[in-house]
Amino acid sequence: MDFELSESQEMFRSTLRDFVQRSVKPQVHHLEQNGIYPSDLVSEMAAMGLFGLCIPSAYEGLELDSISMALVFEEISRAWMGLAGILGTHTIACAMIAKFGTESQREKFLPALARGERRTAMALSEPDAGSDLQAITTRATRTESGYHVDGTKLWITNARHANPLPVLVKTDPQATPRHRGMSILLIETPRTGLEVTKDLPKLGYRGPETCEVVLSGVEVPADALLGGQEGQGLQQALWALQLGRINIAARGVGLSQGALEAALAYAHHREAFGEKIVQFQLIQEKIADMATEIQAARLMTYWAASQHDKLGRADTETGMAKLFASEVALRSALEAMRVHGGYGYSQEFDVERLYRDAPLLAIGEGTNEILRTVIARNISREFRS
Ligand SMILES: Cc1cc2nc3c(=O)[nH]c(=O)nc-3n(C[C@H](O)[C@H](O)[C@H](O)COP(=O)(O)OP(=O)(O)OC[C@H]3O[C@@H](n4cnc5c(N)ncnc54)[C@H](O)[C@@H]3O)c2cc1C
Repeated sequence: MDFELSESQEMFRSTLRDFVQRSVKPQVHHLEQNGIYPSDLVSEMAAMGLFGLCIPSAYEGLELDSISMALVFEEISRAWMGLAGILGTHTIACAMIAKFGTESQREKFLPALARGERRTAMALSEPDAGSDLQAITTRATRTESGYHVDGTKLWITNARHANPLPVLVKTDPQATPRHRGMSILLIETPRTGLEVTKDLPKLGYRGPETCEVVLSGVEVPADALLGGQEGQGLQQALWALQLGRINIAARGVGLSQGALEAALAYAHHREAFGEKIVQFQLIQEKIADMATEIQAARLMTYWAASQHDKLGRADTETGMAKLFASEVALRSALEAMRVHGGYGYSQEFDVERLYRDAPLLAIGEGTNEILRTVIARNISREFRS
């Protein structure tokens, strides 16, 4: 077992830190508080190749190992979790196209996605189906030239920038089990009948847009079917989501580290009863607990990432890392706010934003309740066998 990053991972992290320090930190407060889309940062991330994290080098991507991918989400989230969200569903959708796409889909989309000239997203959730994806009702009916699609997708992050937009549909609503009738269509935009109808107002996670997308009589060519075979959509989406759990776990580590650093800076500066508050043991307890939990979450995230690379699919490991790191993020954000006293409740201080951003990590890429059921089911199965 090696608990150190490799030399190339260290160098990569240092490049990311420079970017975050130089470009993200000075702007995050202004952009986030005013709801301004970070277009300049997106261009900078594209120039660094960050839109091609999981894309094979044959298609112009960085083809990173999953620990390096985690470092991207960790380092960016140290300053701004929302900015990491612009890379989040894009990255897992690219990995999904690389893994399951036909050769012509890979050639058509991946190089432009790697360069950031095209962007993508994941349209799975609907108004009446989130955790239970097999209950979706978006319908793709076969036509002579492809599919006719009707339905509504909700909570779709990066929807306004996605081309193609991967959409989970029912190609056979009567199939049993239900997942056999599910497929993913890579829908190129703009397209008649596909409309991003609203941006959903959110507690936090500002930066990327999160939208409702209505599909009304959308005509899609047959070659938009991911992998060219119907009935594979749920498996393709679930594979992408377990990769996504590494990025959510890493975001939790980064957000927590940002919270710890803010708490430390404040505790060394603020005085009460004639002393710096960092001298008080009850403040020290918070700092010690945060630092300990964050390091545990970090190691678990890197471990899950390495298991994913080793096994090709690591639902239990990535689920554990995402569950643990997101709960650590929720606790760290709250504790950092407490260290700040009344100022922690003020929009002038970063911890207020961290507190608004953290809860999403317990919801996205499988709620923590669902992940507990997945982890328990998998370890029970191993126990029986
Ligand atoms: C800011 C934001 C961005 C998002 N971005 C995207 C995106 O880009 N693409 C996308 O497709 N979706 C996205 N989502 C949707 C997200 O994936 C879903 O919200 C999530 O999967 C939960 O689904 P739901 O909201 O329908 O809740 P539900 O599934 O209705 O769950 C409600 C509650 O019941 C619990 N629950 C449900 N089933 C069980 C069970 N079997 N056992 C125990 N508890 C259970 C849940 O844990 C939760 O606490 C986003 C959501 C948010 C808030």
